[in-house]
Amino acid sequence: MSWLKGRRSPTRVEETLPLPIAGHDAVYLLKRSSARRTLALRVTDRGEIAVNAPLRLPQHEVDRFLRRHADWLKERLESARTRVFTWRDGAELPWLGGRLTLVMLAPGGRPAARQEMDRLFCAAEETAVETVVSHWYRHQARPLLMERLAHHAARLGRPTPPLRLSDARTRWGSLSPKGVVSLNWRLAKASPEEIDYVICHELAHFRRRDHSPAFWREVETLFPEWETVRRRLRQNGPLYFQF
Ligand SMILES: [Zn+2]
Repeated sequence: MSWLKGRRSPTRVEETLPLPIAGHDAVYLLKRSSARRTLALRVTDRGEIAVNAPLRLPQHEVDRFLRRHADWLKERLESARTRVFTWRDGAELPWLGGRLTLVMLAPGGRPAARQEMDRLFCAAEETAVETVVSHWYRHQARPLLMERLAHHAARLGRPTPPLRLSDARTRWGSLSPKGVVSLNWRLAKASPEEIDYVICHELAHFRRRDHSPAFWREVETLFPEWETVRRRLRQNGPLYFQF
């Protein structure tokens, strides 16, 4: 009989939960594992919060642990939020909920950006890199957002509404009185769920123009997990709006 018998790989469970701290509109990733004995808290440079916990630790103990670290969390989140984006070789660019690494190439010919796997190559003068990269994002954003818009409009039994790419500094989307859906090109940085939430939100405005409880019920039918994803989008907003 093998000595390996009876050895099991640890059980792992992950879920995204709202932060149990008053005045904090954020979520955290709770990673439980049967291999863990202690609690650990981490905030990434991107402002993502993760907690590692033993598999069977009662939730109220996790909550208490988070509340005890409320001040530390506030500080860390604030510094992640106010970090200014620096255009340099190796910079991390948010892309579809993941990231691309910026590779700056010597300028030559027409300034251009091109993606290869998880890298974005940009050949441009240093002062033009932001313009070239932003242009690349917009170029990608249109077909990507159009596809999701068409998908969700079809679920509603509606023809795909016209799409306008917006460059708003604080808004993700809006619906004009004429039925044109505006979506921020920076959504190309967001995760597929965050993109879908914003699109379902704007489509729900075809039924209700306000933000009444009836409106949120429309959102709910189109996108049941809207509350968690909306919170996540708010949390990630500062990162996506850096450029
Ligand atoms: Zn709205």
